[in-house]
Amino acid sequence: RSLPSPLSPSASATSSSVAASGPSPSKQADTDTSPGGESGMIESIVGSNPYFSAGFGLMAVGAGLTIFRKGTVAGASALRRQLLVTLEIPSKDKSYLWFLNWMSAQSHGAAATATQEASSATLGASVGAGSKGLFQRWSDRLANKINQRSQFLAVQTEFKQHDNGSISTRFNLIPGNGKHLIRYRGAWIQVERTRDGKIVDMMTGSPWETVTLTTLSKDRQVFTELLKDAQEMALMSQEGKTVIYTSWGPDWRPFGQPRKRRPLESVILQEGVAERVVRDVREFVKNEKWYADRGIPYRRGYLLYGPPGSGKTSFIQALAGELEYNICILNLSERGLTNDRLNHLLTNLPERSIMLLEDIDAAFAKRDKSQEGFQSMVTFSGLLNALDGVTSSEGRIIFMTTNHIDVLDPALIRPGRVDLREYVGDATPLQIRRMFKRFYEQEDALADQFVKSLGDNTVSTAALQGHFVHFKDRPEDALANIGYLTERHGNQ
Ligand code: ADP
Repeated sequence: RSLPSPLSPSASATSSSVAASGPSPSKQADTDTSPGGESGMIESIVGSNPYFSAGFGLMAVGAGLTIFRKGTVAGASALRRQLLVTLEIPSKDKSYLWFLNWMSAQSHGAAATATQEASSATLGASVGAGSKGLFQRWSDRLANKINQRSQFLAVQTEFKQHDNGSISTRFNLIPGNGKHLIRYRGAWIQVERTRDGKIVDMMTGSPWETVTLTTLSKDRQVFTELLKDAQEMALMSQEGKTVIYTSWGPDWRPFGQPRKRRPLESVILQEGVAERVVRDVREFVKNEKWYADRGIPYRRGYLLYGPPGSGKTSFIQALAGELEYNICILNLSERGLTNDRLNHLLTNLPERSIMLLEDIDAAFAKRDKSQEGFQSMVTFSGLLNALDGVTSSEGRIIFMTTNHIDVLDPALIRPGRVDLREYVGDATPLQIRRMFKRFYEQEDALADQFVKSLGDNTVSTAALQGHFVHFKDRPEDALANIGYLTERHGNQ
């Protein structure tokens, strides 16, 4: 076939090769139309030229494929959106730790059975244990295998210091970074724990983490059930116990396992001290409206002062247990603590908790107020501001302890910041007797002798406790070796 008349003389010789090798047919069409502008001619070129036809054909196929690919991707993500649901739990959220612990119980051999039993109870109710299909059984078995063999585990070590000073350690295996597959109440859930390398908490340097759970849309209700289970598990482990929180960057996090509540009677203070404090706190807790009606900030501060080892901290712990409160402990000398962080921590206490600022003198003694920022970056005025700051409607109970009330700046302990102060000192004869009787219940006569033998010696209740623990079940020896107690105390 002969070519139809060329658009321009120069193009005539090359038009066919241009069309075949040109980068895109449309570009070719543009160049061709501009000088002539006769659309009929173009049609005839495009229509009758085999190269043009091939080019357009390819273009159409290419475009078609692209559209198809895009369509598939969009379709797949739409399908994914339709079929899967995702739940994101950031490390900021309270349920984050609950979930990790729950998950560790799931994949943690013996511990797993407890939760699995709980979940299979519900599962059993709906499916009936005996009527499980073959697929169901196979999939449960597979799930168990996967659960037990989670590939990425992280270890979380817990130290627990007992009253007698011994320390026990426990390792918890928690799901590490990466993907895990679990089966829960008949649904498969993909658990992905990711750590954002870029976002870190500027205060602690701890990385930002997220757990993402994905499951089939039809199973979306398992998320609620799972979170409820995790929460129940967390609460169960706290029942009858006191949770100790410590600061973690700008947040409060539980420190170790919740501790068994300490009975108030187990802390033996000078007469009337415990009663006065307990009465005051109880009165405060139930008077929210009274404060609100008068526009007074709903907070109360307490100061327990006296020599070390007299039971200040133990009493506050026992008090928290008695009121069914938790404790948030903050060390003001902590490195990296700033005024802002302190303020944030004090305004965001976990619900039902007592704030405990220990050894407040160590952070701000009157004499080195000028050396603010030596270790911690909290300034004295920053502390005062934080103490005076806004409180939640639940109210705020702050306890401060010190061994040296005389070095505290009066501004810190003025009413409004410290509303009740109590001296907790070395053991009085009455306390010595009660302590003795707590260890050797029947020994009234020995108790009297013990008190008499101690005479005017000052002993701390902590030293007494140590002595009685040493001579456990041997009250006579405790008495015979009383010299050891006074000497040791004298050497301290
Ligand atoms: P502080 O806070 O006054 O320094 P702690 O409360 O830390 O004293 O006491 C240290 C240890 O001594 C604890 O194990 C506690 O059980 C014991 N202890 C001290 N004082 C008393 C007390 N008054 N009654 C019972 N135990 C006490």
